[in-house]
Parts: sequence; structure tokens; C-alpha cells
Amino acid sequence: MQLSQAHLRTLQACPRQYQYRHLDSLILPEATQLIETTSQKQGYIFHRLMKQHFQGLDIHPILEVQPELKPWFEAFQTIPPPMIQGQGEAEHQRSLGWREFTLVAVYDYVIFGQEQAQILDWKTYAAAPAPKNLSHDWQTRLYCYLLAATSAYPPDQISMTYWFAQGEKGANVYTFSYSNNAHQEIHQVLEQCLNQLSQWLQAYRQGQDLPQVPAVEIPKYCHDCAFAERCQRSQSNRVSSIDPFLAVLKNLSVPR
Ligand code: SF4
Repeated sequence: MQLSQAHLRTLQACPRQYQYRHLDSLILPEATQLIETTSQKQGYIFHRLMKQHFQGLDIHPILEVQPELKPWFEAFQTIPPPMIQGQGEAEHQRSLGWREFTLVAVYDYVIFGQEQAQILDWKTYAAAPAPKNLSHDWQTRLYCYLLAATSAYPPDQISMTYWFAQGEKGANVYTFSYSNNAHQEIHQVLEQCLNQLSQWLQAYRQGQDLPQVPAVEIPKYCHDCAFAERCQRSQSNRVSSIDPFLAVLKNLSVPR
């Protein structure tokens, strides 16, 4: 079973949502496409553009079709994030086996330097999160952890940089340094998280659902969740009026 940063984030927020999405497969590709926004599509295309740019391929055909991406790419060219010297690789993939699981990551860009490695990630959404939230995000934690665990670079030679295409100049780059302490801490958190998931999966195979978020967290997580009706945690009729595909989800039976 593969676990990405998105899987870990969902598991941390709500194990039941993880079950619905990844064990019961209730989000069908068609349904996902319905909620995919224009900005998400632009984000995917911008990542493709950056990959082509770093591979030395012509990006002008993409910019001709998607002219709205020009300011983002110009911002990158005008004031690029600080990057170390070394061999760069776009869409770099790493994985690590952990009992029945495989931790996986696809990095937007990694630079392998002499005694340093730098992970770079392009963000295209408008508002950058607070640096503290970003440093605790599973993407930062898993990406740094996996690189340290699967390469010759010790943790204190690894850093991760987020670059925000729509951020204001001077406030569009965040760099986090990794460390031995952080590596040990994340190792322990992963150990606990994957132990817990193993137990939940064992129970799930015997017909038991994964836990929902506690009642006190309902306003934070449930009211805007695609599964609120299924969990009987929706605000009266609100969810079904937002998305027509939820009506389909509501009536799906889940084969085990
Ligand atoms: S409605 Fe709440 S408990 Fe149910 S899947 Fe969504 S977040 Fe989890």
C-alpha cells in the first residue's frame, strides 16, 4: 500500500475520509473532475511547464495555449528562489518500504550538490500558508524524511524551499532546514501513524469502519467535507446543494 504526503494528511485530519477515498474508492475519477477548479488545472499545467523548462525543452507552446501562466514564469525568471549549485532533477521520485506500506514522494525539483541537497516545490495557489503551518505540513516532513532516509545526505545537509508563483516579491519564498532532531521526531511520528493504520486496516478487513473525527472537530472538518451526508454530519441540505455528484456518493453501496 502506497502512502504519499496527501494520504498522510488525510489520515491525520480524518481516518474515515481516508477510508472513503482510498479504501472504498468513493471518489471516482469522474466525480473528481467535477470539482477540479480552473486554478487547480492551471497549477498542474504550470508544474508541467516547469518540468519542461528544467529539462531544457521548449515551453512556448504551453505559454501560447495558457498565456495566464506567463506572469508566473516571468516572476520565476526575474527573481528565482535561491538555489544551490549541483545536479538538478525535475519530478524526482523516491520511495521507502515500511512493513506493508511504501512511503512515496514525487519532488517538483531536487538539486543534488556537493555536500547539500535542496528540495524545491512550486506552489500556484494565491495565499501562502503561515511558515509554521508549512513546516509542519506532511509534504515538508515526508519529503525531507524520505530524502534523508534514502540518500547519502545526512538530515542537516538537506533543505526544502517553497516558491509561490503568486506571492508578493520578497515574501514568496520559504526555506526550511532539516536536522537530525527533526528526522528522529518524524521517524517516531511515522512509526506511530503506521502502527495505528495497520490496526485500523486489520479491523477494516473484519468489517469495522475507520474512526470519524471527534464531535468537537465537526465544524472544522465535516461541514465542508464531501462525505458529510454519508457521515450524517452535514449542515442541513447545504452539502447536497453544492455538488450534484454528492447525491450519487450518498447512494453508493460500498463493497468489502
Ligand atoms: S464528514 Fe467528517 S467524519 Fe465524515 S469523512 Fe468527512 S471529515 Fe471525516
